[in-house]
Amino acid sequence: MPNWIGLLLLGCLLAASHELAATEPRLATPREGEGAYALLRRHGFQPTPEDFEAFLQLNQDRLGPEHTLIRGRSYRIPDTRQVAARKPVAGGRVYYPIFGPHYAWVERKDTELADCALYLESGHGGPDPGALGWREGHLLAEDEYAYDITLRLARVLLEHGAAVFLIVRDPNDGIRDGQWLAPDHDELTYPRQPMPVNQVRRLHQRAAAVNALYAQEGGRQHYHRVVIIHVDSRSQDERIDTFFYHQANSPAGRRLAVNLRDAFEENYRKHQPERGYRGSVSTRSLYMLSATQPPAAFIELGNIRNPNNQYRFIEPGNRQALAEWIAAGIARDVQAERDR
Ligand SMILES: [Zn+2]
Repeated sequence: MPNWIGLLLLGCLLAASHELAATEPRLATPREGEGAYALLRRHGFQPTPEDFEAFLQLNQDRLGPEHTLIRGRSYRIPDTRQVAARKPVAGGRVYYPIFGPHYAWVERKDTELADCALYLESGHGGPDPGALGWREGHLLAEDEYAYDITLRLARVLLEHGAAVFLIVRDPNDGIRDGQWLAPDHDELTYPRQPMPVNQVRRLHQRAAAVNALYAQEGGRQHYHRVVIIHVDSRSQDERIDTFFYHQANSPAGRRLAVNLRDAFEENYRKHQPERGYRGSVSTRSLYMLSATQPPAAFIELGNIRNPNNQYRFIEPGNRQALAEWIAAGIARDVQAERDR
């Protein structure tokens, strides 16, 4: 066998081993009179708008008018229930309905984070909006802004080939580009569990979701981290810089928090050199830091009641920048881990 064939085969094997998204979806054929919802229901779904959207995307080329199904054709069944966000196929694009219609297609730019799994938890959600602020007659809810930034972060990480798991999920929000993110209460815990009203039970549910995913992903990736994203609430006139917590006895958690802070410092130096940045890294005993098995860092993005800090969240461009800075901090941490 000539060498190049061996190389080609090796390439295919490597691609197959970590390109889970490349596995073909299941096929199904509709029964008489059956529409997409009924077909999905027959295949074990209680279809959400997210499932429906994924189904349409997967089957664009074989649907009849008004999204009808044509008898005798086979349709691809989406894989939205299994994993929050699979890795994009090498050099290709993957459709993730969770990001909403304008951002659902994610293009893989490189494989910088190909051996990494990130478990992203945006604070609060469901029955609990978290910290609240007001601006120009609009109610600002922590959970909505934290979620939007977390989605943007997830998308950047996917572009670099990471496996990403969204622990808090809102199937019909997606990435939103407005200033005012309307508060709602329909967020779910991965994969799609309703959130308990009781706070302790809600946090237990999230930590259990992270740990179950970690058990499943443990052998597949080398680098596993939990990133928890919140917005703080202080007195209205207190301006705070984004700061970070880690668990006291977690050197890897501390390293991640420090790398996140350093990425923020570097970006402020680059983009607002006059400003200065004093974001701190400290330990704090928090359930989500101690109960999740992979090392974790907790981010407080700013004070939701302070008019100056609010600008950091209400401007969609700023939310995108925060997401990119957090992603840069993670990339730094991955590099530090590789250099060890
Ligand atoms: Zn919070």
